[in-house]
Amino acid sequence: MKRFNLHVETDPSAGFCFGVINAINKAEEALRNKEELYCLGEIVHNEEENNRLKALGLQTIQRDGLSHLHHKRILFRAHGEPPASYAALQKNENTIIDATCPIVVKLQKQVARSYRSGEHIYLYGKATHPEVIGIAGYINNDLVVFNELEELDLKALPKQLTLYSQTTQSIDRFQCIVNTLLQAGVEVKVKNTICRSVTHRRRALQEFCRRFDKVIFVAGLNSSNGKFLYQVCKDSNPGTYFISNAKEILSEWFVPGNRVGISGATSTPLWLLAEVKNALENL
Ligand code: SF4
Repeated sequence: MKRFNLHVETDPSAGFCFGVINAINKAEEALRNKEELYCLGEIVHNEEENNRLKALGLQTIQRDGLSHLHHKRILFRAHGEPPASYAALQKNENTIIDATCPIVVKLQKQVARSYRSGEHIYLYGKATHPEVIGIAGYINNDLVVFNELEELDLKALPKQLTLYSQTTQSIDRFQCIVNTLLQAGVEVKVKNTICRSVTHRRRALQEFCRRFDKVIFVAGLNSSNGKFLYQVCKDSNPGTYFISNAKEILSEWFVPGNRVGISGATSTPLWLLAEVKNALENL
């Protein structure tokens, strides 16, 4: 018998962004003919979806294992790769299935152009994030990557710099960084390269979260935009809980009759949100 009788609704704007959909479609298509398929790094920052694709035959390898592959098929995920990854695989006659998101490709090209023009490149992002490693590879790692303003010595900055962002960063923090640099007297060439999928989701999420007593946000622990969008939910509705799968739901979060909204990161599959909805409706 149901004890909680929750009214549960899934966020209509939730689900994969088009870059992730494209990568997963390419993986599924390539797996259909049963030949070996490797993905360089996890295809998506979501363990549940990675396990589903692993069961279909997708194998994950890391960059340091590339030189051992010969005549294999390797998928590059939406985050993109530095030129060295292409070169290492092509040398041993491997086939690359390139699912780099077109938005990331555009960013890589923009940064490379700035570099050729002799600009000082600053990138707001995480130095260890695969997208950032890929971008840095196009300019011989000749850039400054920072994730917090405090990491920069404002007095030691060049007079002019070009500011880029990793695609999944917060637009508010990016704007705050721009303002701080301008106030410090730096001439900033601003390149807002934050993905619209993430900024649009933020607005839609804020409105969605306010309609519920509780919000369940579903994402992988490694997802950058998952962390960012979870914070957006939490700020809009303090009764927001982060989970990675339905097993992590705790009944003590709810009282009978609660209205509960479910949402997730751009790397959270809709099938996982459906499992969470089912679990909540059966509490
Ligand atoms: S978040 Fe944006 S840039 Fe990143 S994969 Fe998705 S669509 Fe592409």
